[in-house]
Amino acid sequence: MSDIIQLLPDSVANQIAAGEVIQRPASAVKELVENALDAGADEIVIYIKDAGKTSIKIVDNGCGMSPADARTAFERHATSKISSANDLFSIRTMGFRGEALASVAAIADIELRSKRPEDEVGIYIHITGSAVISQEPVACNNGTAIIVKNLFFNVPARRRFLKSNTTELKHIINEIQRVALPNPDIRFLFYHNYALLYDLGKSNMRRRIADIFGKNINQSLIPVGEETSLVKIAGFIGQPKYARKTMGEQFFFVNKRYMRHPYFHKAVMQAYEKLLPSDSFPSYFLMLDIEPGEIDINIHPTKTEIKFENDSAIWQIINATVRESLGKHNVVPSIDFDMEGSVEIPIRKKYSGEISFPEVVTDPDYNPFTEKGSGTGRQREYFRVGADHWESLYNPPDTGDQSRIAFKGDEDQKMPGGEYTGKKVLQLKQKYILTPVKSGIMVIDQKRAHERILYEKFMEILKTESIVSQQELFPQKIELDTADSLLLKSILDDLLALGFDIREFGTNTFVVNGTPGLLDTSTPQMIVEKLLEEYKNSPVDAQAKVREQVAGSLAKASALDYGIELKREEADRLIDKLFTCETPNYSPDGKKVLTIIPLGDIEKLFNI
Ligand code: ADP
Ligand code: MG
Repeated sequence: MSDIIQLLPDSVANQIAAGEVIQRPASAVKELVENALDAGADEIVIYIKDAGKTSIKIVDNGCGMSPADARTAFERHATSKISSANDLFSIRTMGFRGEALASVAAIADIELRSKRPEDEVGIYIHITGSAVISQEPVACNNGTAIIVKNLFFNVPARRRFLKSNTTELKHIINEIQRVALPNPDIRFLFYHNYALLYDLGKSNMRRRIADIFGKNINQSLIPVGEETSLVKIAGFIGQPKYARKTMGEQFFFVNKRYMRHPYFHKAVMQAYEKLLPSDSFPSYFLMLDIEPGEIDINIHPTKTEIKFENDSAIWQIINATVRESLGKHNVVPSIDFDMEGSVEIPIRKKYSGEISFPEVVTDPDYNPFTEKGSGTGRQREYFRVGADHWESLYNPPDTGDQSRIAFKGDEDQKMPGGEYTGKKVLQLKQKYILTPVKSGIMVIDQKRAHERILYEKFMEILKTESIVSQQELFPQKIELDTADSLLLKSILDDLLALGFDIREFGTNTFVVNGTPGLLDTSTPQMIVEKLLEEYKNSPVDAQAKVREQVAGSLAKASALDYGIELKREEADRLIDKLFTCETPNYSPDGKKVLTIIPLGDIEKLFNI
């Protein structure tokens, strides 16, 4: 029998290879726009007809190409971006494989016009299905304009499987968002069938996000920033209250390249945990900047899967950074309690240090009418309280320090300068606490509020002490699969410290002899399975997860219930304590603790 292996003709090989890079019109748009970015353009115009099925035209004002380069650019593995394997570890450009133009040329009809600023005339090249139809000098603008028509004209199967125009256009829009977001300093214009869909002027990232996703998103954005020796993180995250039931806008970029990263996604989601009502998703726009040698972008032709050398360290940095930003911009609604005759108290985020009564220090030399800074040093630290200067309570000198009044006592707090007036509170149906705030009426769910307060208290305790386990009368058996039982074995000691007395009992079987008191122990199997699940999903500080769960269960078990009448002071204290919590808005299991009925809504009720 004769030999049967033969080399495929270039045109066929190119078509096969093209399939990997160009799956649909959106992939062509992505590749061409990325080329424009790599060419240093600061203005990129995208014209699409019929969701890219008829034509895609990209015009840039980048560096352009010489006539010879323009011709070579369509060869497979022709690139100006790397020249040796070593360069793979220092890639800062979007492209480097030299495959995009060759791929598009293999499956479409392309016309390219390109001119370098230093050249008198430009070059025009017409290529169809990898064959050059014509090539000639042309008068054109600096930069490159490329038109791709009849995508997949010679791959009918692929063309048939394109989705509706709406779907294909959605893919194109996604790609444009992914390149436009990390490049706010570049102007993008995007036309579809002559309608201008995006006009993204040069701006900063915050504006760019708002230009793309609408002005409303702006108010929900919390800035994120961290710089470590390994990675720099910048960008924005959405406030939890704007989280949506559908997946929000979630973007990771590394060195300005969009990437999918389910593992890092978890780092963000975990930071939000407990702040979000269940089943909702926050938005985030996070840009990582990292030494190119630390990542491998070469593992997938579309380059959206990226491997990180140090992914668990970066996981922790992302998680901590997001947590910190959420904490800083804590999620407390503007709690300007409307207290006539008393002072607004700057609410501190957390108790710290010992508890004592508030101090008010008066400075007899302080004259509120003199210029700032001209008095004694003291007046920078305290503001004067006294009947003759009562205005200063409302407009204290601006020292930039938000916590001038030491608000330390957690019982019986006295307001500086007079009687303790308390807030106006009203308990409704032995379930809700109502209190006026500047913007309307705040309604607090008493049980959930108390759960939140206790939860944070228990978490505090758990950080320092360990819990004594309560022995079960009837030790229960748990059976797990091999993977889970290995995992459980590895954390048995941690669990013991938290009051779970679990022992191994034969292959993949365990016995629960004791659990932390007050925990719902009816189904230890479920608790353990839940714990294991948490462990699997949170590689960092898994012990904290167990603690959270224990603290949450304890809080639930001991929180005051509905139907309990609260004294005015009790309700008042509950509010105060709630707002010293780190996360007052949501109960430990993510349910809403409070809501505000805006004044406007109340007014509307009277306008009928
Ligand atoms: P890669 O981007 O991976 O290098 P491409 O096939 O996308 O491969 O492009 C091949 C080469 O053509 C690029 O390396 C670049 O030198 C040149 N090129 C492509 N598009 C442009 C453009 N818009 N402006 C200037 N040069 C371009
Ligand atoms: Mg390219």
